[in-house]
Amino acid sequence: MYGLIVIGLLWAAFLFLLRRDLASAWAEPCLRAPVLVFEGDDWGFGPPAQADALRDIAGVLRRHADAEGRHPVMTLGVVLSGPDPERPDEPEAGLRLDDALLRPVLDSINDGARDRVFALQLHGMQHYHPAVLDRACRADPALAAWRRQPLPATEDLPSPLQSRWTDASVLPSRPLDAADIRQRATAEVTEFVRVFGQPPAVAVPPTFVWNDQVESAWAAAGVQVIVTPGERYEARGSDGLPVDSGHLYRNGQRCPSGLMAVVRNDYYEPVRGHRAPQGLEALVRKWRQRRPLLLETHRSNFVGRHARHPESLQALDDLLLGAQQGFPDIRFLSVEALAAAYAAGNGLIDRRPWVRLQALAARVLVSGRRRKIAALLSGLTLLALAGAF
Ligand SMILES: [Zn+2]
Repeated sequence: MYGLIVIGLLWAAFLFLLRRDLASAWAEPCLRAPVLVFEGDDWGFGPPAQADALRDIAGVLRRHADAEGRHPVMTLGVVLSGPDPERPDEPEAGLRLDDALLRPVLDSINDGARDRVFALQLHGMQHYHPAVLDRACRADPALAAWRRQPLPATEDLPSPLQSRWTDASVLPSRPLDAADIRQRATAEVTEFVRVFGQPPAVAVPPTFVWNDQVESAWAAAGVQVIVTPGERYEARGSDGLPVDSGHLYRNGQRCPSGLMAVVRNDYYEPVRGHRAPQGLEALVRKWRQRRPLLLETHRSNFVGRHARHPESLQALDDLLLGAQQGFPDIRFLSVEALAAAYAAGNGLIDRRPWVRLQALAARVLVSGRRRKIAALLSGLTLLALAGAF
């Protein structure tokens, strides 16, 4: 009897230590079917070779469909503008995505969106802050040279300068003026509407550095959903790396700004060696947690100096084939549709208590240590029960 009391106390201590994770994991809805979304970033302004790459990606996606006839979706985090080749040293003079020079890229984006294999998300007016980049260019001739290339790739900028919502012209970065953030966040939504004829439902902060002011301005301009990595960075540290802010996000969470959060929770970057087996493993893991799999994947797999276009297309195709074979009831959705399912709370959402409890365990017992402690306590509980009766 005393053994059972001691084990009960040990369980209580273990659960007490996990209380925050448990509360957050319990609050996140559970899915009724596995969901796979490719989250493609950085498309739009940049090399004209994107036009063919996007056409090829759309071709692969069109070959597949889920049980309800929906094609797999690659969301495109769209960058609307970049340095104007005729006025490269004027920071605010941007070449727009509907300029004749980028027309083939825009056509490929629109073709894929029309066939619902692409879903367009706002990534930013630029993949940097023009005034911040300008300050950095004055101090660094190599950066000034980058800006003078025709249609340069923003992937080639130093990582801190790819953050749009902090001043990383010096490190550690400094906060931007609130009015500047409001004006730019509003203007980029307006530009998205001008180019695509509708507001972006979803926004993806470049390099996941953003703050409340960005969220509020986007929400006021009509954005409904924000893609997060599960946490928020607000600055770059003296080493240039993103700095934790302590803000955490979960799928379906309603933020104080009014935006709904979704969590991008794994990578699929074929240039870094990711292939179908890793993608399928991630799908198994997320499905056990009753979460969607949102796979981050960048344009740099398909276009640019390090791209491996044919291998990346093959990796996409292989993963889609494996996913359909391993999970016949898989759903291919856009982030917007996924967020709508979370908001509605029915259809795709599973409320059965035993499913939620299983998902809770899978969500919380993520580290080997936690699993070992839970297994040890379960074993001790069984032994004690066997001895008591
Ligand atoms: Zn990006």
